[in-house]
Amino acid sequence: MSQKFDVVVIGAGPGGYVAAIRAAQLGLKTACIEKYIGKEGKVALGGTCLNVGCIPSKALLDSSYKYHEAKEAFKVHGIEAKGVTIDVPAMVARKANIVKNLTGGIATLFKANGVTSFEGHGKLLANKQVEVTGLDGKTQVLEAENVIIASGSRPVEIPPAPLTDDIIVDSTGALELVEVPRHLVVIGAGVIGLELGSVWRRLGAQVTVLEYLERICPGLDGETARTLQRALTRQGMRFRLGTRVVAARSGEQGVELDLQPAAGGATESLQADYVLVAIGRRPYTEGLGLETVGLASDRRGMLENQGQRSAAPGVWVIGDVTSGPMLAHKAEEEAIVCIERIAGHAAEMNAEVIPSVIYTQPEVASVGLGEEQLQAARREYKVGRFPFSANSRAKINHESEGFIKILSDARSDQVLGVHMIGPGVSEMIGEACVAMEFSASAEDLALTCHPHPTRSE
Ligand code: FAD
Ligand code: NAD
Repeated sequence: MSQKFDVVVIGAGPGGYVAAIRAAQLGLKTACIEKYIGKEGKVALGGTCLNVGCIPSKALLDSSYKYHEAKEAFKVHGIEAKGVTIDVPAMVARKANIVKNLTGGIATLFKANGVTSFEGHGKLLANKQVEVTGLDGKTQVLEAENVIIASGSRPVEIPPAPLTDDIIVDSTGALELVEVPRHLVVIGAGVIGLELGSVWRRLGAQVTVLEYLERICPGLDGETARTLQRALTRQGMRFRLGTRVVAARSGEQGVELDLQPAAGGATESLQADYVLVAIGRRPYTEGLGLETVGLASDRRGMLENQGQRSAAPGVWVIGDVTSGPMLAHKAEEEAIVCIERIAGHAAEMNAEVIPSVIYTQPEVASVGLGEEQLQAARREYKVGRFPFSANSRAKINHESEGFIKILSDARSDQVLGVHMIGPGVSEMIGEACVAMEFSASAEDLALTCHPHPTRSE
């Protein structure tokens, strides 16, 4: 006999596990299906974020920055650190341990909240049923009043440089390198390329970033992106903008890439010992049985939603698999809204106020609209800009690179966007989110007393 649930969630990433826990907390009988096999050879919960995304990348960013500080930044404080070395396997093992602890924590939360966990592949069947194919190949059918698709996303591959033998790798491979590359070529100057490029640059690799467009981080406020590029260039990262890869040949010496100007022109070659392909991610919907419930993904692979409802009755979509930024906190917000709606509660989320952070050094944190977006929308706006070079805390810490820029409506002064670049700004952007949620004016922020000396003042 099939088991009956109020909610069956497919995928246990930040969208899926938050949805499952919230549903159970609201008294709904809930199951969550996950198929990802982690390092221990067992199903690991937590999705991309915990296993191969946010958490492991930030762990390596932290370790590599400590190494960089010990080697380069202590001197100015009169601290001499001699013979500083890096043990890459130990660094990677620390990261693996953090991942293990956190993914195990989700399993504990499932138990504590009464979520039934199924290990295997989830597939939609007709008549509100979901089939689970276990790791042993056996199938079982769950009856589901509501199904939530939280199947996440996968890296996009690039035909001229297919992933090869741990040499041409995606982000997952770049988190697992066992040695510091001599020359790492990164294809794509987006968030992953710059964060993981930074890890290996700090550890001593020569890093060249190839970007198709004439700028880095499309979507980010232009002035902020240019400032980040200058800072990373000073750290030794090389950028080749307006460049496309037309072929890649891997052999014993590493990889030889053929490059051309994006606008067309002569081909030149570039030698690397590792290549990281980081040109974006695509929603993951393979094998979900979408056709059986009359659903189809759009041109970008996305499943559309209206208030997290898909076009099929009783089927909901959240996280990377649907529209909006591919960010863990966005998936979590959608999870809560989705479950509250299933439970019959009124719930809204403000898609205008989703912060994003690039965890390079300096960090970049932004929320709301950038200058180019305001100009395209013909909005009249004011710019308030303050450089960290004039902030006492930043000067004390000898980290005065970057600025904070507040964009507000020219007439009402309502904050429309906040863009920060500097050390630690990931912890400061939350204040801008609160201000925007409360429709604050830039003056409201200016009149709020902040502690001294801090970056926040
Ligand atoms: P996912 O986390 O991808 O989870 C989906 C889960 O569904 C997976 O575990 C998958 O195995 C499972 N699944 C799929 N299909 C099925 C099926 N049919 N049956 C059973 N299970 C299935 N975001 C941030 O906000 N901050 C960051 O710092 C950040 N860093 C990142 C760094 C890297 C290197 C990468 C790759 C991503 C990063 N992201 C970051 C993005 C973030 O990881 C995603 O936005 C987030 O994980 C999306 O959550 P999700 O629940 O929608 O999907
Ligand atoms: P991205 O969209 O951030 O950047 C991809 C870059 O590759 C863009 O600059 C794009 O112009 C470029 N590009 C595309 N095709 C190319 C080609 N053929 N040759 C050269 N350049 C090309 O994508 P990503 O860095 O792969 O990250 C994927 C997603 O993961 C992000 O959009 C983000 O949502 C999420 N993520 C978030 C964080 C964070 O929040 N800190 C960290 C990592 C990943």
